[in-house]
Amino acid sequence: MRLEGKNVLITGAAQGIGKSVALGMAKEGANIAIADLNIESAQDTAREVSASGVKSIAIKLDVSKQDDVKAAFGVFTGELGALDILVNNAGITRDTVLLRMKEEDWDAVLNINLKGSFLCSKEAIKIMVKQRSGKIISISSVVAFMGNPGQANYSSSKAGLIGLTKTIAKEYAGRGIRANAVAPGFIRTAMTDILNDEVKNEMKKAIPLGQFGTPEDVTNAIIFLASKEADYITGQVIHVNGGMYM
Ligand code: NAP
Repeated sequence: MRLEGKNVLITGAAQGIGKSVALGMAKEGANIAIADLNIESAQDTAREVSASGVKSIAIKLDVSKQDDVKAAFGVFTGELGALDILVNNAGITRDTVLLRMKEEDWDAVLNINLKGSFLCSKEAIKIMVKQRSGKIISISSVVAFMGNPGQANYSSSKAGLIGLTKTIAKEYAGRGIRANAVAPGFIRTAMTDILNDEVKNEMKKAIPLGQFGTPEDVTNAIIFLASKEADYITGQVIHVNGGMYM
């Protein structure tokens, strides 16, 4: 039980990687808030998570809206009290080559992936500063480091998260707050299921370990960063990509 009694808020946790992180952290003894746009599926996930014997709540949240974020953190502290760990997981893609990319495609991705993490981190830090402890873990991507055709908006948002993470790490280390990122490669979820087989086969060829990752592969790295074992680690990125980028 590496996270016994810890209180965690995970954004976009109704499905995919966020849901896997929620289930994995609950098995380690953490109480989990599933904060997602889709409240019905967040409630379903919270019910599944609470089967581990921990407390789990669902909170409706659009991470790109400041008022929503403030309200969600208010609900969280009202229901669970202290906030030990924030996982900035909510993310979207709107892929197309740069010349075809509309301003709204750029804004939607940056607003959810990067601004959303800024807004959630700000609310979390307000609480964590008073506690003089806390961990913020953000989900970046391998494309932040490699670039990717068709993902100018997405790779920029994920590169921005690295700057955000390192800055939080430096600004709040003195208050006992750690900030780290995980950069997954190609992970099998709804986000990647939409890619056609040709793209998937090309991507597989670029992975030295020869296979796509699972949400559980990402979860393992996040649980490590959230645990006491990682207390001397801040401002870092763990790459979970089968060797796709090294
Ligand atoms: P996913 O299956 O699409 O899940 C994303 C979740 O975020 C969904 O539940 C979605 O809700 C929610 N969400 C979307 N917009 C939101 C908003 N404005 N506020 C709150 N929640 C919102 O994606 P995933 O593959 O698990 O990805 C999770 C994270 O890992 C993302 O940040 C992604 O960029 C990152 N990542 C994924 C991969 C990969 O290969 N899968 C690789 C690298 C990084 P709705 O379904 O209701 O929209």
